[in-house]
Amino acid sequence: MNYKLTQSNYRHLVVGTETKIPIKNGQFISAINFDNAASTPPFVSVMEEINNFSKMYSSIHRGTGYKSKLSSQLFEDARSIILKFVNADPHNDTVIYVKNTTEAINKLSYRLWDGNKKSVILSTWMEHHSNDLPWRNKFQVDYVQTDSLGKLSLENLEYKLNKHKGNVKLVTVTGASNVTGYVNPIHKIAELAHRYQAKILVDGAQLVPHNAVNMKPKNPLQHIDYLVFSAHKMYAPFGIGVLIGPQETFTRGISEFVGGGTAETVTHDWVVWENPPHKEEAGSPNVMGVVALVAAIKTLTALGMRNIDHYENELTNYANTKLSSIPGITLYSHTAQGEPRIGVIPFNIKGIDHEQVATILSNEAGIAVRTGCFCTQPYIQQLLSISPKQMEFYKNNEKAPRPGVVRLSFGLYNDFSEINVLTHLLERIIKHPK
Ligand code: PLP
Repeated sequence: MNYKLTQSNYRHLVVGTETKIPIKNGQFISAINFDNAASTPPFVSVMEEINNFSKMYSSIHRGTGYKSKLSSQLFEDARSIILKFVNADPHNDTVIYVKNTTEAINKLSYRLWDGNKKSVILSTWMEHHSNDLPWRNKFQVDYVQTDSLGKLSLENLEYKLNKHKGNVKLVTVTGASNVTGYVNPIHKIAELAHRYQAKILVDGAQLVPHNAVNMKPKNPLQHIDYLVFSAHKMYAPFGIGVLIGPQETFTRGISEFVGGGTAETVTHDWVVWENPPHKEEAGSPNVMGVVALVAAIKTLTALGMRNIDHYENELTNYANTKLSSIPGITLYSHTAQGEPRIGVIPFNIKGIDHEQVATILSNEAGIAVRTGCFCTQPYIQQLLSISPKQMEFYKNNEKAPRPGVVRLSFGLYNDFSEINVLTHLLERIIKHPK
């Protein structure tokens, strides 16, 4: 592999890469951001679009002025651009705008809720809390297991589909893990789910910014029924995300949020609800967010998701190779060559608390990482072999330091040279922790 490239070709496309931040000795240095799984900085193109649109921006749908009509059109046209980006079905699927992935999954959990106590949702051991907690208290939830390396077990999925035969309403699975970076075989999972008459939801929060996602491959058994993702992890701002799924799902029932924009006719005695997606989008929507998301999608598409995936893989392999050669570092994700993954690497340094490592990285080299459990506690408990008894201890001892790991997560603008800065400092920390 050629690691001569030290600077990303995409670096100039992202805002703030040269921003100087203060570190411990009062010096100002360029920040290194290895926390892209939490949120990415925006693309320059996105900020330009926001700026341009601010001159034309107005509240949408019922306004008669030019700016309102233009804003409405951009807002509505964006739905087909988003559908195309993930190859959804332009005739049957709809895009519902939400704040983020978490809101999207909560919304779907309400729409799928049928009051049937026998209905089962199959989640997995590797899910973010946002793809676990919304399903509890409404449905019976069972969890597909992961193996000793933390990879999803398709055998266990099939076992669980069989165990709950006829009652599994949905298999809900992350496209890529925010802890280990493993990419799940979503089309194989879809095929299994559909063979058992279950639907599939893919949590695309981590997958969509890094890999090309195809909701409707040739084989209909492999179609993805629902997909959710957030703009703030794909080089656009916070506050906008999408829930994509068949229009039909959202014609039933009443949205959990109702009000302006959701009803066609209202009297004191009855209401005729709008058709989806509008019936699901209560109140004045985030038009600016939608415009920004579309700008991000256009830039990602122009760059090519396969090129992005390729570059980020090289970066991740480089980091993995370097980290695994440093004695004292434990890595928690393991992929064979060519096995799909995104640029997320969890690790710990033997004998040094994960939070202390992160503090030193930030204070001494301006390196941002994230530590802890990343809202994925049951998965971390498995990866670190933390027993239920130990968890009871933490529950009863609020002040006890929590287990966790250090997480690196790369974006397309990160450089090989930044990884060198990180690994040098890690070597130093191992030799002289203070
Ligand atoms: N799912 C996964 C896999 C995530 O990594 C995250 C956030 O990190 C979420 C869901 C929740 O995303 P949001 O905070 O944008 O709702």
